[in-house]
Amino acid sequence: MTGEAAERILMLRYYRDDEKSFDELCRRVAGAIADSPEEEAEYFDMMNTLRFLPNSPTLMNAGTDMNQLAACFTLYVGDSITEIFDAMKWGAMIHKSGGGTGYNFSNIRPEGAFVESSEGVASGPVSFMKAFDAVTGVIRQGGRRRGANMGILNVDHPDILKFINSKTREGDIANFNISVMVTDRFMGLVEAGRFDRVWITREETAEEITVGDIWNGITEGIWRNGEPGLLFYDEINRKNMTPALGNINATNPCGEQPLLPFESCVLGSINLSKFIDEKGETDLASLEKTIRTAVKFLDRIIDKNRYPIPEIEEATKRTRKVGLGLMGVHDALIMRRIPYDSPEGRKYCGSIMQFVAETAVSESGRLAEEKGPFPAWKGSVWEKNGKMVRNAALTTIAPTGSISIIAECSSGIEPVFSYSYTRMNTAGESFRMVHPLFKKELETVAGKLFPNPEERERRVGEVLSHVHETGTVQDIGWLPDSFTKIFTTALDIRWRDHILMQAAFQEHVHASISKTINMPGTSTKNEISEALLFAWRCRLKGITIYRTSSRKDAVLCLGKFG
Ligand code: UDP
Repeated sequence: MTGEAAERILMLRYYRDDEKSFDELCRRVAGAIADSPEEEAEYFDMMNTLRFLPNSPTLMNAGTDMNQLAACFTLYVGDSITEIFDAMKWGAMIHKSGGGTGYNFSNIRPEGAFVESSEGVASGPVSFMKAFDAVTGVIRQGGRRRGANMGILNVDHPDILKFINSKTREGDIANFNISVMVTDRFMGLVEAGRFDRVWITREETAEEITVGDIWNGITEGIWRNGEPGLLFYDEINRKNMTPALGNINATNPCGEQPLLPFESCVLGSINLSKFIDEKGETDLASLEKTIRTAVKFLDRIIDKNRYPIPEIEEATKRTRKVGLGLMGVHDALIMRRIPYDSPEGRKYCGSIMQFVAETAVSESGRLAEEKGPFPAWKGSVWEKNGKMVRNAALTTIAPTGSISIIAECSSGIEPVFSYSYTRMNTAGESFRMVHPLFKKELETVAGKLFPNPEERERRVGEVLSHVHETGTVQDIGWLPDSFTKIFTTALDIRWRDHILMQAAFQEHVHASISKTINMPGTSTKNEISEALLFAWRCRLKGITIYRTSSRKDAVLCLGKFG
């Protein structure tokens, strides 16, 4: 039932010693999480039919001695050597267990600042980030999954330029994604074109850093190789449901989960394409059932999980955040014959995500009646709104990098990258993937246009090679508009439409969204600047931009690079 690429990845990284099939894996996971035989059957069924999959650590570790089931963590980093190295040690423990960690390094004093105890000078957050990176590199050799990190620095930290430039050379600090935490005040100055305005004055040297210095560094870095990302502090905190516990200043590695220090979160994604019938209708009754079962499943995990350290257990159980999201979204749009980059596409996606969020909140309310609301509910925004829930946040959009391969669907809410491409897995093996819906529809269209079987076959073959080489079918003259409009790719879609789709989802997502905003290789720094400002105005919580071909090590490659 699972395809070749899926089987390979399952065998390499997911099956335990005694397992040989996906059935057995699903049985182990369902058995480890369920409280009753009925629940076990429900959990088994939703995973085995590929309608829902939890994040990789759950698939890998549930029911084993490790039993660490969460993908997302953030840790507190203080300004003392003890605090910094504590965070490093905890990070290593998280990575060993298959999780990814986010750190905001802004508490660390800037490079060159005085250190009282040694009467020396401080080395600054970036040098410590390199040490964290090295530790991750060592740990990753042991595990089944690469330990990923997010390094964050606030836009008003004196070392911000050094941070922005820390990954200028490809391969530097490779185990980190980096993001600048920007504020509305800073973005307002950029929007108003106040680039000469002094933003930071460095204490030791009196060096002045302007808004323009920082903005140029950001856009230049993104143009060069896609980093740093931006995180929008004020929007993240406007939507923080537990402000009494403090402000949020960090996310997990791919940015979809803003978390308080020491919180962790288990993610799970529903494969939307499984709920679309042949007529293109969405089976809402069945979707509702899966959402409810998935929320129960994710909530159970919080109690069954083995946490790396007690602080994480305590922080996680205080808010009981879970991250339910969608994958296979572009596939679902294709099945409904709605273009991804259209108002209709965004409307459909917004309404489905609203349905997911409302149903998840309703199920969390049911769980709260049974077991009580999350412990920090009093004083939370949920309480203020008169809504009792068991989980402070319920919805997220994860990248689903691995689980979408297992489920054989388009990843997260991303548009299909190419309908034929070479994918490299973490073991360095490459697979040629041809999108099944694309191939089927292509054959149908060619069948109507070319009655001669030889010509039909030749035309289909030509399109498949063309799309494998170039990633697009938009320039093939004989394909009808009705086909090319539906089979757009991440690179065909304009950045504005990427951002609008992210915004359509964000409105109904409690946490955040992992998404890449693709821009053509010819894009300028000015266009990148425009896209960042547009994302901020659309009230996204964060943004990642990737300019085509700006990195050599991209995971997804078109034919000519793969
Ligand atoms: N993650 C990680 N290492 C990886 C991939 C992912 O630590 O190699 C973490 C990271 O926090 C990321 C989250 O898992 O944001 C979810 O990633 P994804 O949805 O791609 O994971 P999957 O469950 O598909 O493996």
